[in-house]
Amino acid sequence: MNEGLYMPEPNLEYILTEAVACETLADREITHLLNLEQPEEVELLFNAARMVRERYFGSAIFIYGFIYFSTYCRNDCAFCLYRRSNPAGKRYRKTPAEILETADQLASSGVHLLDLTMGEDPYYFNEGHFDQLLLLVDQVKKTSGLPVMISPGVVSRDQLQSFREIGVDWYALYQETHNIDLYNKLRLDQDYDERLELKRYAHQLGMLAEEGLLSGIGESAEDLCHSFAVMRELEVDQVRVMSFIPQVGTPLEKYSTGSHLRELKIIALMRLLFPDRLIPASLDVDGLAGLRQRLNAGANVVTSIIPPHKGFQGVSQSTLDVDEGGRSIDAILPVLDACGLQPAPVESYKQWVEQRRKRYS
Ligand code: SF4
Repeated sequence: MNEGLYMPEPNLEYILTEAVACETLADREITHLLNLEQPEEVELLFNAARMVRERYFGSAIFIYGFIYFSTYCRNDCAFCLYRRSNPAGKRYRKTPAEILETADQLASSGVHLLDLTMGEDPYYFNEGHFDQLLLLVDQVKKTSGLPVMISPGVVSRDQLQSFREIGVDWYALYQETHNIDLYNKLRLDQDYDERLELKRYAHQLGMLAEEGLLSGIGESAEDLCHSFAVMRELEVDQVRVMSFIPQVGTPLEKYSTGSHLRELKIIALMRLLFPDRLIPASLDVDGLAGLRQRLNAGANVVTSIIPPHKGFQGVSQSTLDVDEGGRSIDAILPVLDACGLQPAPVESYKQWVEQRRKRYS
């Protein structure tokens, strides 16, 4: 036996102490944390993540209003309810009046940011209606007075620049995975590099960028280590993970996902690896019932607040808790309180965004 190759089993307390103090982890240590199963060990991981969140953000939480204003899409992602070939995906395209009214309602309720999301709707991309989209986003930004995130899918560089010129703050575009083979099975016929490069270009334009992962979809620990390395290299400002939810009418409808514990461990790892970034706890996976565990894993943003009875849908869980009012600020406040957290002042979110944007201006 070559004694030089002997590698002792990583020690959990040592790894976490090192992570909290130095904010670095070797791939071997990341894998060890991802593989934790014992509840008391997983809790040590979450506790370390909360300590790091406290150091950077105190007890303040940011809250995002979500307006999924068109569910039409030209793409055919294997995991998505709204893939173009899925007759089960409920289609709508909200009018400007409906969108502005909803933006106003969300802003009045106290959200920190408005996230304007759509599928890659051919109406806006193929029929010369892009200027309508720009006008709409501009009106939302001006009337709400809030930072705005856009999630329109892949746009041209000129279009992204136009968004920046009207003051859009964030561009969200998720790879879902950085394993190219898996990516090609999930995001059918979509260029991996084009997607990645647009996030870099957003930074060049002075916008903030969000990257996102899908978990429970066949990714390995090695894949996740690689994703973290790519995210570090991209220097994205918000990092997110959401568990895969099987969608009716899609090729992955019957894909078994198991528990969402892996998502929680990834949230905690993101907090340890990206301590000063924003990390969402999404209501779009397990609804209000899953919020506390995501906050306890180290998340510091609650997404996605959706007003009830307006016909707006979510992405992974298109209707869960929406019309019951579970995706409202009133519903999440008791959960924040139980976690010893509270909403940040709106101004402090604006300051965070402006401070962060200085890196790219
Ligand atoms: S994930 Fe986005 S791009 Fe893919 S099908 Fe769904 S809405 Fe379209």
